[in-house]
Amino acid sequence: MRENVRLKLAIQKSGRLADDCRDLLEQCGIKFTKSKDQLFCQAQNFPLDLFFVRDDDIPAFVASSVCQIGIVGRNVLSEEMISSPNQKLKSVKEIMALGFGKCRLSLAVPHSFAYEGVCSLEGKTIATSYEGLLSEFLKQNNVNAEIVDMRGAVEIAPRVGMADAICDLVSTGSTLAVNGLKEVEVIFRSEASLIRNENISSKLVEILDRLLLRIKGVQQAGASKYIMLHAPAAALDDIRKVIPGSDSPTVLALQGRNDKVAIHAVCNEGIFWETMEDLRSRGATDILVVPIEKMLN
Ligand code: ATP
Ligand code: ZN
Repeated sequence: MRENVRLKLAIQKSGRLADDCRDLLEQCGIKFTKSKDQLFCQAQNFPLDLFFVRDDDIPAFVASSVCQIGIVGRNVLSEEMISSPNQKLKSVKEIMALGFGKCRLSLAVPHSFAYEGVCSLEGKTIATSYEGLLSEFLKQNNVNAEIVDMRGAVEIAPRVGMADAICDLVSTGSTLAVNGLKEVEVIFRSEASLIRNENISSKLVEILDRLLLRIKGVQQAGASKYIMLHAPAAALDDIRKVIPGSDSPTVLALQGRNDKVAIHAVCNEGIFWETMEDLRSRGATDILVVPIEKMLN
């Protein structure tokens, strides 16, 4: 009988990371159907089980081995590590930054606050949901301030007189602006991260390695482009120098032409209009830049 070993992954049920997590799995070719209120589902074509939970619960799910891996904001993991006495969290490790869910944990004050540096916060009250990360920051900066622990809507605290300042997650800054606040200090930078429990059986490590290879492939493909162009044979060396992030392009003969060749290359970085203009000025024509869907090195 075939052994049914499956890796368990905890992801956010709904919220800012949920869609990106599902998109990532789809790009990895992992198929699953989830109905709206489902908490668990099995991938159809990969030995992976998905648990849909609140993001705050993901570190504990992985720490207790209910799931061996999870996707969570580094802000949530670090806050749990600092503020939770749970020894099991020590077995949780970050393995890969995923490039989405980017945000920063920042201190912000009302526009009327004469902020001159962290020392301006001495003796003030600061509202936050990130008591652990904030107290560490204050300790490192020798500032004594009172922390008001709030679960949500932290940005309204100064307006209603609950606090002088706030410490909250920011991505675009528009929520701060709407609430008459200015960002004065970034204390932590975050993005979604793949985490794992250190104690995983070798069979599950094999599945995890396969998954990691696919995620890396997706990330590389996203950052890379395939470029095709025609170049005067005489300008080949000159043009090769300009193609970004590609050491050994493919050079192909063009039928019936001795004076021109076709160059194809995978560029491991973006290609800007300026680069294309530069290539053109060196004699390149018919320049095509196309996205790469998958990549396995
Ligand atoms: P849950 O219901 O799962 O507890 P939540 O309300 O705590 O969700 P979300 O607001 O969905 O959490 O945010 C999830 C994660 O998205 C954050 O922990 C953070 O890592 C990331 N994130 C990215 N940008 C922002 C932002 N501007 N504000 C808040 N979180 C952000
Ligand atoms: Zn949450």
